[in-house]
Amino acid sequence: MSDCLFCRIVAGEVPATVVRESERTLAFRDIAPQAPTHVLVVPKDHYPDVAALAEQPALLAELVREAHKLAVEEELGDRGYRLVFNTGADAGQTVFHAHGHLLGGHELGRLA
Ligand code: AMP
Repeated sequence: MSDCLFCRIVAGEVPATVVRESERTLAFRDIAPQAPTHVLVVPKDHYPDVAALAEQPALLAELVREAHKLAVEEELGDRGYRLVFNTGADAGQTVFHAHGHLLGGHELGRLA
């Protein structure tokens, strides 16, 4: 059994609210939402962060496409959304399995 939380969610060993799935990605609601829509989009295979995922450009593009399709499903296509990849300690990355945070549904404000 993997000790990676998101690998375990992908494997169905830890419950999650899955909202979208493609051949190589899974999207599920964040357990502690920071916006009306807060979904995590992950590759099913393990990459520790988005920099490692970028070594597989087609997979990274699939993940971004899936995030956009989900944003449209959540009616954020016109009003906009944010897709964030926290990378490393200063950014607050806590789960070391690459994931994009899809955030939207209210005005998100400036990043910094
Ligand atoms: P990060 O801080 O960028 O690594 O993001 C990790 C995210 O995973 C945080 O927003 C957490 O709220 C979220 N999270 C942690 N455990 C779970 C879980 N079991 N199901 C869904 N989201 C989770």
